Amino acid sequence: MSIIYDRVALIGLGLIAGSMSLAMRRAGLAGRIVGTARSAETRAVAREIGLVDEVFETAAEAVKGADLVVLAVPVGAMASVAREIGPHLKPGATVTDVGSVKRAVIRAVAPHMPRGVHFIPGHPLAGTEHSGPRSGFAELFDNRFCILLPPEGVDAGALADLRTLWQGMGANVEEMDPDHHDLVLAVTSHAPHLIAYTMVGVADDLRRVTDKEVIKYSAAGFRDFTRIAASDPTMWRDVFLNNKDATLEILGRFTEELFALQRAIRTGDGDYLFEYFTRTRNIRRGIIEAGQDTDAPDFGRIGKA
Ligand code: NAP
Repeated sequence: MSIIYDRVALIGLGLIAGSMSLAMRRAGLAGRIVGTARSAETRAVAREIGLVDEVFETAAEAVKGADLVVLAVPVGAMASVAREIGPHLKPGATVTDVGSVKRAVIRAVAPHMPRGVHFIPGHPLAGTEHSGPRSGFAELFDNRFCILLPPEGVDAGALADLRTLWQGMGANVEEMDPDHHDLVLAVTSHAPHLIAYTMVGVADDLRRVTDKEVIKYSAAGFRDFTRIAASDPTMWRDVFLNNKDATLEILGRFTEELFALQRAIRTGDGDYLFEYFTRTRNIRRGIIEAGQDTDAPDFGRIGKA
């Protein structure tokens, strides 16, 4: 691969930005990668481990002369970062973001983008429950989807470069409209996270099952909920505050389905339960066939510590 951007500035130096830096280096996609984060502590760690080539104290300094600027901060921080960097962006630069919600981020960022700067929102569908400057790894985006949300009339060359960058970092790029993105993600990511948070919260409240038992027997399903429920609280607070309508719509549907299942259990309607579980099993098969998960028993954890 050859260099796509001479200078890339990463605003925020956590899981996603760190992984981008390592993935860009792996494929030689950027001439120089610089970055900044809010706290002195994160900036110090990033310097210590050489996460990027140079760490700046402020976002305004970091974006100077950058050909690509990546906003990799929590969704709720996008507006203030965009306001800060707006006047310092290089004419002709591309600005993208990796926020998990799109309509709200576009509303927050677009007004601060000067004429001549190409703003192309994005969202890599890849992550872990870890966060911070030490959590990134170069393979995070391999064979994962990255959704780009190009606005109407976007510069074709700027879009092509951003696509090539994500492909070079291992991702499969798709394009989507922001509202549709927010609905799809409410189904596939946001509502499931809320359900996991709730389930772990419920277990925490149950006094008839001891904490010890919950931990000891958690392999039977609960463990996967606890992994998801360990995700970063700031990031997820911002996701729900900024994808309100779609998440509430899906949770409404979820509640209806839950009541229907509850009723089937109470009335002993085995056919309903069997058909329901057959349908969900087919959805799981589809995910595996699409290469987005493993069909190894217990997600390949059997035999591992
Ligand atoms: P993270 O590991 O917690 O990193 C967030 C970074 O943003 C930290 O370096 C933090 O600095 C910095 N930051 C926070 N507020 C800031 C501000 N006002 N100005 C400058 N820097 C600021 O989070 P992440 O997982 O990389 O998530 C970043 C973005 O990616 C979020 O928008 C999230 O929705 C999206 N995303 C996450 C995932 C996932 O699974 N984690 C997947 C796809 C997309 P400090 O360390 O100094 O606080």
